[in-house]
Amino acid sequence: MPRELRYLLQFDDLCPIMNWPLWEQIEHILVAQDVRPIVAVIPDNRDPKLVVDQFRADFWKRVRLWQARGWTVALHGYQHVYVNRNPGMLGIAPQSEFAGLPWQEQEAKLRQGLRSLKRRGSLPMPGLLHHTRLIKPQCVYLQPTGYR
Ligand SMILES: [Zn+2]
Repeated sequence: MPRELRYLLQFDDLCPIMNWPLWEQIEHILVAQDVRPIVAVIPDNRDPKLVVDQFRADFWKRVRLWQARGWTVALHGYQHVYVNRNPGMLGIAPQSEFAGLPWQEQEAKLRQGLRSLKRRGSLPMPGLLHHTRLIKPQCVYLQPTGYR
């Protein structure tokens, strides 16, 4: 008996100044096909590489709409600014916003990121943190933030 194939679709780097014309096309297809992706949002983007389009004031309203559609909102780092060339535990990217920093700083960034999303009416799903590349298991860092 063939097993049902399932795919996990995730979009990273979503922020108010992303490539909106491209995203509008993607979002249209996702809605039309009833695909519910993970949308990984940068809470406070400061990465100049991601300044692609005009700032959209309705961005957080859109995030809440995505979540209401059943899409999964994930926390994608905090400011998306790499602070070192430490690949962290995963070793996927040669730099990180978190890895190599004292755990208190990592925890503070996570708290700020989560607070930022909550303040805007969106709560990321558990276990879906990105660009963290923490040195210790994430759960150790996340317990004090109340994030499970
Ligand atoms: Zn990213």
